[in-house]
Amino acid sequence: MPPHITIIGSGFSGTLTAIHLLSQTTTPLTISLIDPRGTFGPGLAYSPPSKTFTLNVKAKAMGALPSDGEGFFRWLKKKRPSTSPNEFAPRSYYGEYLCELLNLVETSSRIHTVNRVSQEVIDLERTPNNVFSVTLSDGSILYADACVLALGNIPRCSLGKTLDMSAFHPPYSAESYSHITGAKEALIIGSSLTAVDVILESERNGFRGEYTVISRHGRFPLPHEESSAEHQFQIASESLTLGSVTKLCAFMRSESRRLLSSQPVFDHIRPHIQTVWKHLPEKEKQRFLRHLQPIWDIHRHRIPVQHHETLQQLQRTKRLRLTAGRFHDAKKTNAGCTATYTSRGARSETITKFFDVAFLCVGPEGDLTKMKSPLIRNLLRRGLITPGTLRLGIVHSAPKLAVVGPLQRELLWEITAVRELREEAQLQAAAILQSLGASLAG
Ligand SMILES: Cc1cc2nc3c(=O)[nH]c(=O)nc-3n(C[C@H](O)[C@H](O)[C@H](O)COP(=O)(O)OP(=O)(O)OC[C@H]3O[C@@H](n4cnc5c(N)ncnc54)[C@H](O)[C@@H]3O)c2cc1C
Repeated sequence: MPPHITIIGSGFSGTLTAIHLLSQTTTPLTISLIDPRGTFGPGLAYSPPSKTFTLNVKAKAMGALPSDGEGFFRWLKKKRPSTSPNEFAPRSYYGEYLCELLNLVETSSRIHTVNRVSQEVIDLERTPNNVFSVTLSDGSILYADACVLALGNIPRCSLGKTLDMSAFHPPYSAESYSHITGAKEALIIGSSLTAVDVILESERNGFRGEYTVISRHGRFPLPHEESSAEHQFQIASESLTLGSVTKLCAFMRSESRRLLSSQPVFDHIRPHIQTVWKHLPEKEKQRFLRHLQPIWDIHRHRIPVQHHETLQQLQRTKRLRLTAGRFHDAKKTNAGCTATYTSRGARSETITKFFDVAFLCVGPEGDLTKMKSPLIRNLLRRGLITPGTLRLGIVHSAPKLAVVGPLQRELLWEITAVRELREEAQLQAAAILQSLGASLAG
C-alpha cells in the first residue's frame, strides 16, 4: 500500500503542499485533499464573492512556486494579453490559477493518486498502530500515515469577551452588500486590509452613507511605493540576530533616515524577519507585539495607490471617520446594531450609537483555546498540538503531523502571505517525505 497523506484544508497552503509532495518523490503516494468548500486551491483568500476584490501584491510577484516568482503573471498574460506585471489582479483569477496548477501537477504525476474530499475534518487521533484516524463531518474515517494541518486563518468570535456575532455582516459574502445602498451608517471594527476591502466593496455596491472605522491604532495600511526596490540596502547578519526590539527599532530608524523613507527598510527586512523573530527572547517578542507590530503591519500589508486615494477622498469629504479607540460591544437590533466604543486621545469619550451595518475586521484568532473549530479542540484535548504562550498559534505538533500556514505564526511571525507560504509548503512537503522514508525525485 502506498503511504497515505491527508491534507486538511485546501487553500493556498494545503494545495501547494500537495503540489510539492506530488512533484518531489518517486515513491507512489495517495494524497487526500480535504476541504468542506468543495474547491481545491482558492481557499478563503482567493474565492471572493466578486471579481472586484483584487490582490494586494503585484501580479509579477505572486507565482505560487518558490522557483517561479513570475508564474502567475505568465499564466494571467495568456488569459488576458493586456495584463501588466505591476497589476493588482482580481483575487478570483488567482484562485483559478491555483486550481489549474494543481490539476496540471496531478495529471502529469502518473504514479500518485489524489482524492478530493469535500468534508470538514472534525477529529484526528493517533491509533495504537501508529497511524492517524481522521474523522470527517459525515462520520466516515480515513486512516493516514501522515497529516498536514493547513486550516488557514481561524476567524475570531471574541474580543476579550464573547461577541454577539449576529450583529456583524461577513466581509466576504455577496449577501452583506446586497442591501447596502439604503444604509446610512456603517461601522467597521479594524482598519487593516479586510477593512479596506469592505469599504471599497461598499462603495462599488452604491453605499453613500458614512463610515465609522475604529481600530486600536487608528491607521490604514500604507500605499505601495514605486521606488522601494531600487534602494541600496545591505543587512549584516548581526542586525538580524540583535535579540532586542529596542536595538531593532534603532537600526530601522537609522536606515530610514539614511534612505529618507521607511518603506524600503521594511521591504528589505521582510525576507529576514523570520530569522529576526526566532532570535528574540520571549519577553522581546511580547515587546515586538506591543510596540512594533502596529508599525510593522501598516508597512507590511500595503494597498494599491488608487485604493489609498479612495480612502483619503472619503476622509476629506467627511464620509469616513477613522478613530483610534477601543470597541466594547455590539448588540443586534431589528434594523441593524447598537455599538459602544471609546475613542482615545485628548477628547476620549465613550459613545453608544446605532449603525445600519457593521463589519468585524479584526484579523484572525491566534489563541487556540478560544477557537470554535471542533478539530482544533480535539487536537488540543488529545495533546497532538501545543499552543504558544503568545497566543499566536501552534508551537509544537506530534510527529508526522505537519502544520503549514498562518497557524505557524508564533514560530515564524511572518507566515500569512504567498511569499512566505510558498517556501514553507515546499519545506514541509520535503520534511513529510523524509519522515515517511520516501525517495526524492532527482
Ligand atoms: C481576504 C484575503 C486576501 C488576501 N490577499 C493576499 C494577497 O493578495 N497576496 C498574498 O500574498 N496574500 C494574501 N492573503 C494572505 C493569505 O492568507 C495567503 O495568501 C493564503 O491564501 C493563505 O492560505 P491558507 O491555505 O493558509 O488559508 P485559507 O485560504 O484560509 O485556506 C484554509 C482552508 O482550510 C479549510 N479548513 C479549515 N478548517 C478545516 C477543517 N477542519 N477540515 C477541512 N478543511 C478545513 C478552509 O475551508 C479553507 O479552505 C490574503 C488573505 C485573505 C484572508
